[in-house]
Amino acid sequence: MTDVKFAADRMLGRLVKWLRIIGQDVIYGPHLTGYGLIRAARVENRLILTRDRRLKHKQPPAFLLIESDHYRDQLCQVVRQCGLKLAEHLFTRCVECNTVLQSRPKDELKAVIPPYVFSSQEKFFSCPTCRRVYWPATHHKKMLEELRNLGLR
Ligand SMILES: [Zn+2]
Repeated sequence: MTDVKFAADRMLGRLVKWLRIIGQDVIYGPHLTGYGLIRAARVENRLILTRDRRLKHKQPPAFLLIESDHYRDQLCQVVRQCGLKLAEHLFTRCVECNTVLQSRPKDELKAVIPPYVFSSQEKFFSCPTCRRVYWPATHHKKMLEELRNLGLR
């Protein structure tokens, strides 16, 4: 995996979700715009992803100007220009909050997952920060199809 970490501006919500799906470290939030985004990127040594053409006048650190309004094109642009490798870290990060997921024994999660999922799935991951639980089989199939359609898998 590349060592690049990202800070994305507010217009890039769907791109952020997809970058996290492929395991990339991306910070994102309402405070990350304009100078707030620049400051956060500088402090944590992150590459800025932005749709804002005026950002360059604010003396930002390294940034990548995202060309398209469509998240699929945006994702392809970032993957290609940053040379991201998809296979290794796919589905290792919480889509909601960017935390690295932890594998969890099934029995610990019985109270929080639907019974049909509990009986049909074996592998589970959870987010130590926001507690969201992930089970690969159902979450991942559609996402893999999407990545394949984009020519990224
Ligand atoms: Zn989380």
